[in-house]
Amino acid sequence: PSAMREIFLEKPSTTWSDIGGQSGVKEKLKQMVEWPLTKADTMKNLGITPPRGVLLYGPPGCSKTLIAKALANESGLNFLSVKGPELFNKYVGESERAVREIFRKARAAAPSIIFFDEIDALSTARGHSEAGAGGERVLTSLLTEMDGIESLNGVMVLAATNRPDVIDSALMRPGRLSRLLYVGPPDEHARQQILKIRTKNMCLGSEVDLEEIAKTTEGMTGAEIVALCEEAGLYAMSQDEDAKEVTKKDFDHVLKGARRGVTEEMLK
Ligand code: ATP
Repeated sequence: PSAMREIFLEKPSTTWSDIGGQSGVKEKLKQMVEWPLTKADTMKNLGITPPRGVLLYGPPGCSKTLIAKALANESGLNFLSVKGPELFNKYVGESERAVREIFRKARAAAPSIIFFDEIDALSTARGHSEAGAGGERVLTSLLTEMDGIESLNGVMVLAATNRPDVIDSALMRPGRLSRLLYVGPPDEHARQQILKIRTKNMCLGSEVDLEEIAKTTEGMTGAEIVALCEEAGLYAMSQDEDAKEVTKKDFDHVLKGARRGVTEEMLK
């Protein structure tokens, strides 16, 4: 029982403007939450059922979690988040109860969002002997809970994965995670936006050209670009402990060794 207390209601402060790029995803999610409230009649007339759940998929470090938090914050929804693997590790033997408890809390806090990060853990656990049965049972309780929620004014489920291929098809049926949204790696314009956001509070040398850096960071995820800015700052200090600004040289230096995690197969 003590472990159960760990699922807290969160109040994320992330805003849409904290996220570079992804304008299509932002727009679609806003509509999914706002239309059932403001355009209920139109939706009904056009035969559109508001979704109860959305699956965000795409490579790691490309803002799935940020997007879920911004949606909650900007649409005034309470936010509960759970990582798939936690359901097995933290709540050993009481995973199903944990799932019920999450939905209970979410209903009590409605309108709200439950964010299941790394949802693929449920499916991959099924394959292994020990956690296998557990994975099956957790999935079943998740499906039961999802089938029971009201879409309008109620609880919306957002799930995230970088392995959409292993997600159990039962989870994607209508009324469950029926909408799929691809959250891809940042293109050049998005990379420039991310750089702008991340360097807003950094003292930059006058010759630092974010447009140029955006061009040379092809293949980097959002998280890697954020890390690059931090490393540039650290490198500046390693050269001069009292550095006043981060210069083009610092960026050039860290760019040479920068990780570029976006691979071909991540692009859909
Ligand atoms: P994972 O699959 O690893 O959970 P994710 O897709 O959920 O990854 P986030 O956790 O949202 O990714 O992003 C990780 C970090 O990378 C963020 O906290 C943020 O600092 C940075 N980041 C990633 N994408 C963007 C973006 N588009 N704009 C601004 N920051 C970003």
